[in-house]
Amino acid sequence: MEELNKLKIELERTKIELDILYEISNAMRTTLKLDEILYIILTGVTAHTGLGFNRAMLFLVNEKDKIIEGKMGIGPENGEEANIAWTKIEEEKMDLDDLINAFKNSSSVLESGFNRQVKSLKVSMQDKDENPLSLAVLEGMPLHLTSQTIKKYQNSPVIKILGSNELLLIPLKAKDRVNGIIIADNFITKDPITKDDIRMLTMLANQAGLAIENSQLFELTAERAHTDYLTNLWNHGYFQLLLQAEMEKAKATKTKLSLITVDIDNFKVYNDTLGHQAGDKILKDLARLLRNQSRKMDHVCRYGGEEFTIILPQTEQKEAYMIAERLRVDIQRYPFLNEEIFPNKTLTVSLGIATFPENGLLPAELITSSDKSLYKAKNQGKNITCCAPLT
Ligand code: GH3
Ligand code: MG
Ligand code: MG
Repeated sequence: MEELNKLKIELERTKIELDILYEISNAMRTTLKLDEILYIILTGVTAHTGLGFNRAMLFLVNEKDKIIEGKMGIGPENGEEANIAWTKIEEEKMDLDDLINAFKNSSSVLESGFNRQVKSLKVSMQDKDENPLSLAVLEGMPLHLTSQTIKKYQNSPVIKILGSNELLLIPLKAKDRVNGIIIADNFITKDPITKDDIRMLTMLANQAGLAIENSQLFELTAERAHTDYLTNLWNHGYFQLLLQAEMEKAKATKTKLSLITVDIDNFKVYNDTLGHQAGDKILKDLARLLRNQSRKMDHVCRYGGEEFTIILPQTEQKEAYMIAERLRVDIQRYPFLNEEIFPNKTLTVSLGIATFPENGLLPAELITSSDKSLYKAKNQGKNITCCAPLT
C-alpha cells in the first residue's frame, strides 16, 4: 500500500513537471526573435510556476572569437528586491504566460542591475581549468557546483561576480554543437539544488538550445537577404524599406532626415583599363571606407553599380553636408589600388544631398532630389558635394 502511494506521488510530480516543460516549449514556439526566446527560457527557469530558481542567466557561445558571452540575466540583486518582485507576482497571480507577455509589451523588465551585469560578462573558451563555464561548454556536460566544489573556481571572475555558494551550469545543445549555457542558483533563499532540479533544467536546456539555433538561423537568413553580396552593405531592396521606415519615423517625431547619394567619378576608365575584377575590389574597399567613416545610426547602402546611398536620420542639411564633405576628403586621401589610372590620378566621388521634409515628403521624391543634386555635382566638375535647394 505504501509502495502504491509513493508511486502515486511520483506520478503526480512527473505530470506537473511535464506540464511545465510543455508550457515553456509552447511559449518558445510563438516567436523567432532571439531576445524573446531567451526571455522565455529564463522566465521558465525562474518563475514559481516554472522551475522556481531564484536567478538564471544565459550565455551564448561565440565560435568566431572563441568566447562565451553573457546575453541575459533574470533575478533580484538582493533580498529586498526579491521580496518586492515575488510579492507582486504572487499578488497579481501572474503565471508564465503573464510574465512572458509583460516582456513582449515592454522590455523594461530587463532594466535590472543583474541583467546589465550578466551582459557585461565575457569568458574565454580556452581556460577550462579556471572557469567552469568553459568546462561545461567544452565537455557538453551539466556541472553542479556545491559549496565544496565551487571553491576550486573562486578566482573565476564570473563566480566572483555571482557570489553564490551553489550553482548549476547546463550546456545548451544545438543540432551538433554546444551553443550556449544556462546558469541557475538560489542566491536569495539558499535552497539546495536537488536532483529533480538538475533533471528538469537539463530537459529544458535541450529544447532551448534548438530554439536558439532556429532563431539565430532565421536572423542570419533575414540579414543575408538584405545584404549586397559584393560589398556587404544593405542592398537596394532593403535601402527602400529603410528609407520608408526612417521617413515615417522622422514624420512622426517631427525630425529631419537627410539622404546622401555617392557616385564614383570616371569609374568607367578604371574598369575599362584594369577589368571588372579590379573594379570590384575598389567597390569593396570604398564600401568599407563609407561604413567605417559613417556614424552608427546611419544606414549605408549600395544603390546599384558604383552608386551608394547613406540615410542619415535626425540630420538636417547643414550637418549632412559636413558629413558628406568629410567622406569626400577621406576618399580622396585614401590610397586605393592603382588609382593613378583615374584622370586626376586619385579616386574621387561626387555627392548629392536631399533633406526631408524640405526636398520631398515621399521616399521617391527624396531619391530623385538627391539624384538631381548629384548630377549638379557632376556637371560642376566632379569631386564635390551639392545640396538640393532648401526653398
Ligand atoms: P561619372 O563620373 O559621370 O560617374 O562617370 P563614370 O564613368 O563613373 O559613370 P558611368 O555611369 O558612365 O559608368 C559607370 C561605370 O561603373 C560602368 C561600369 O564600368 C562600372 N560599374 C558599374 N557597376 C559595376 C560593378 O558592379 N562592378 C564593376 N567592376 N564596375 C561597375
Ligand atoms: Mg560614376
Ligand atoms: Mg553611376
